[in-house]
Amino acid sequence: MRKVLVIDSTYETCREAVDQAFEAFPIDVRGKKVAVKMNALKAGDPHTHAYVTDYRILRAVLEKLETMGPGEIVAGDSVGTESYGNSEYVFEQTRLKETAGSYYRNFNKNLKVLELEKPFKRKVAVLKDVVDADVYISVPKMKTHGLTILSGSVKNNFGLLTGAQKAWYHYNSIKPEVFAEILIEMYKVRPPDLVIMDGIMAMEGYGPSSPEVRWVNKVVASDNAVALDTVLAKIIGFQVEDVPYLRLARAMELGETDLSAIDVIGDATTIEDYHRPGPPEASYSYRAGIGSGSTSIVFYRERVSYRPDISAEKCQHAEGCSSCVDVCPTNALSKGTGTPLLESSECILCSACREVCEFESLEFAPDEALMESLEKQEAAR
Ligand code: SF4
Ligand code: SF4
Repeated sequence: MRKVLVIDSTYETCREAVDQAFEAFPIDVRGKKVAVKMNALKAGDPHTHAYVTDYRILRAVLEKLETMGPGEIVAGDSVGTESYGNSEYVFEQTRLKETAGSYYRNFNKNLKVLELEKPFKRKVAVLKDVVDADVYISVPKMKTHGLTILSGSVKNNFGLLTGAQKAWYHYNSIKPEVFAEILIEMYKVRPPDLVIMDGIMAMEGYGPSSPEVRWVNKVVASDNAVALDTVLAKIIGFQVEDVPYLRLARAMELGETDLSAIDVIGDATTIEDYHRPGPPEASYSYRAGIGSGSTSIVFYRERVSYRPDISAEKCQHAEGCSSCVDVCPTNALSKGTGTPLLESSECILCSACREVCEFESLEFAPDEALMESLEKQEAAR
């Protein structure tokens, strides 16, 4: 029987909750490489916004791991929409970098290329530090989400995709069911061995970057992300049927989605007045490509059209730098004379080139011709 632990906690006492999680789900990390992946969506004050996993939960997880004799610990994430290629900044602003200390890695600089078949045949770059780790500990933030309804343990794996690759899936997965498929595909790439969810200061409303916070004061843990999210749905007041990716996980038998078959230890009472987003079909603005603001199809079209834009004045290529060329997982960038050369059609939007440029000479800018051609294709879909 799957087990999910729901522990009443605060940030002051979360070390005890984390210890309980490790006791309930023992894992042997001795001599092994352990990857800790947070949810680091974007920069913000961690005391007033629920954008990211709180640094105190991260600290508790790392302190606990230090007592368990791991061979190596690495901690990081890939960042979201507004910060592609700028992970370091997000980690600094949210105190996650100083908390991770010597364990911090910019995961976006070490990628592994995979070929996905679903929901689209596509080459993607994922976080090698996580997918190839001996032990993967996922430390997500408890959130509701306008498209995926919940942003919990399974959704944290969407962050295995770096940079604007995420935008590519948002742009192309017009229907929530299609977007659910990519969540499940990324979950299957590397299911976490243990999930410890920060549900102390959670997010409510239309996440993933809703300004609404909710003090739930819980840490939720399990060795099965699907079971954990099933319990999360219950706490927030959803049925499994309301959550497209949980419906899919159920159909694919990827984990336990039957509450009666989950051993829930702790108080998982539904919070009746939690601000729950409406069904994605009704509420999510880019369902028909007619949304506005930060979730519109225009917004994502621009991001899908992002390409590296290298400043000839600042670039140190002629002086011997080729960091962006070396990191590019698809050889879209190659050595040139003044600046590196770009083969636009080979760019998969991973953002690694911007992450590694130490001279602030590489930015992302929308390719106008590509934007125009995408706009024409939209009319036909
Ligand atoms: S990493 Fe930056 S400075 Fe180095 S070659 Fe690339 S764009 Fe130029
Ligand atoms: S040019 Fe290469 S490194 Fe840069 S975003 Fe495209 S695929 Fe990634």
